[in-house]
Amino acid sequence: MNIKDHIRGIPDFPKPGILFYDISTLLAHPDAWSVALARLANDVRKFQPDVLAGVESRGFLVAAPLALKLGCGFVMLRKKGKLPGKTIRHEYALEYGTDTIEIQEDAIQPGQRVVILDDLLATGGTMCAGIELLRQVGGHVTGAAAILELNFLPGRQRLADMQVPCSTLASYD
Ligand code: AMP
Repeated sequence: MNIKDHIRGIPDFPKPGILFYDISTLLAHPDAWSVALARLANDVRKFQPDVLAGVESRGFLVAAPLALKLGCGFVMLRKKGKLPGKTIRHEYALEYGTDTIEIQEDAIQPGQRVVILDDLLATGGTMCAGIELLRQVGGHVTGAAAILELNFLPGRQRLADMQVPCSTLASYD
């Protein structure tokens, strides 16, 4: 099964010049989605996580079912202002614009091994912001994974600069 057969590229969304890779068609196809999750589970298992962290919102769709599959906890990295209790936040640059993510201060037990997940790795700004937060709350980030990766952007290099290995199922040049 080729994951890319189940991904739509939508031009000029959310801004002119951006080709948006839409995973809706993968999610709508239970057999393909199940194969994708099985492949991600194999990759992510190698990072030996205790906890999976998903980045709102499409990262939740990836991390939550994988966490159950791997017997790991699931932690939310959310957009600003959505999480109750004490939180810390980090602002970062996107391929299109800026954003801020937050985590609850007590989301991770000190030293827990964490893998961060999203649907797509582009510039790496989102994942790197998430890694900063996970480290600040005491997590040991052992890996990052996504369904898709854009090879012409420096995401993988930025993760390597943070000493975080990365695994993706398919990439676009
Ligand atoms: P980045 O922080 O640049 O690595 O961007 C990754 C985040 O933005 C992920 O949460 C993606 O869902 C989203 N994203 C960035 N570029 C695209 C794209 N071309 N198609 C779909 N999602 C994208």
